[in-house]
Amino acid sequence: MRSKSASSAPRTRVLTGDTPSGRLHIGHWVGSIENRVRLQDDYECYFLIANLHAFTTRADQPAEIASDTIEILKDWLAAGIDPDRATVVVQSEVPAITEITWHLSMLLPFNRVMRNPTLKDELDVKGLGDKYSFGFPLYAVGQCADILAFRPALVPVGEDQLAHIEMCREVARRFNHTYCGVDPATPDAKHVEAGGLLPIPEGLVGRVGRLVGIDGTQKMSKSLGNAIYLTDSTTQIKRKVAQIYTGRVDMNAPGDTQNALFQYVRSFVTDPARVAELEDRYRRGDAIGDGHIKVEVAAAIDTLLSPMRERRAQYDASGGEDIVLDIIRTHAARANAVAAETLGAMREAMKLRFTR
Ligand code: ATP
Ligand code: MG
Repeated sequence: MRSKSASSAPRTRVLTGDTPSGRLHIGHWVGSIENRVRLQDDYECYFLIANLHAFTTRADQPAEIASDTIEILKDWLAAGIDPDRATVVVQSEVPAITEITWHLSMLLPFNRVMRNPTLKDELDVKGLGDKYSFGFPLYAVGQCADILAFRPALVPVGEDQLAHIEMCREVARRFNHTYCGVDPATPDAKHVEAGGLLPIPEGLVGRVGRLVGIDGTQKMSKSLGNAIYLTDSTTQIKRKVAQIYTGRVDMNAPGDTQNALFQYVRSFVTDPARVAELEDRYRRGDAIGDGHIKVEVAAAIDTLLSPMRERRAQYDASGGEDIVLDIIRTHAARANAVAAETLGAMREAMKLRFTR
């Protein structure tokens, strides 16, 4: 069933997505997915699986990328994304995005792309050194195309993506100026009114912008082996939470509540009074050990994930892969209609209409 607001005025558009480089984790939940589930009621939502971007680091693993694409979609459904309300976009099924990437890449100076701090971090953390493909940095431009193809107002993301969103905003302004004659001094919110084709989108960071991994240092990330996955069992959750490193040995010594463990306390223990009590006792060194807190954190994460595990099991039991493939097929038409409309208008603005 479509949402209550579907009948009247056009709803504000939202676009965001994930790369199929592994399964979804609780960092995705607090950073972006929780917001998606909330927004799908009142906004026209497009959720994209960036399978072409997975090739930037795994071009030799097409089968894994294909199965990760299916798994991510199953995770979305399990997490509460509703295919009757939101449109699922598999990037490779929407060719307009690839052409838009080409056009936008001409509007971004090469050094501007390479200075993008998220890209630099990834090269470093993923150990890509100087051996990365030519296409790797291009994914940052591709992400601008993913977003702008759908002309959304809002992009719900984790903190690490804000640098990408900033670049996307920059290139949208430049497109509107170069090809639609929008004065560069025009405020972002007035670009469309001033004749610009592309609205300047805003990032919307979730409740926790950067959940640290169980290694206690890096961002939780599906490529770094430091994640608690949405599909993890109760036992796996307990084992992983037990590994969170704090360096604290004496439960009677004052502890630092800015450590990784307490980020998990604040992110997943739902009773604010209990969070405050744990923080207070930890700071004072009031006979409260990490082990005890970890048991509570693991239980809280398990409570969050257990309905997702159940929903996923239901999908798997009732022909999971077929359901997912069916969603991809039916939604592709809707996604292509919107992206092709954007590309058509871009081509018009760029005087690339020779055959019509
Ligand atoms: P990869 O390691 O392949 O880059 P990832 O775990 O960073 O994977 P992405 O697909 O790059 O996941 O990110 C999907 C969305 O989830 C983005 O909006 C990103 O900002 C958000 N996100 C990812 N990890 C976290 C995290 N640890 N905390 C908060 N948000 C996150
Ligand atoms: Mg990432």
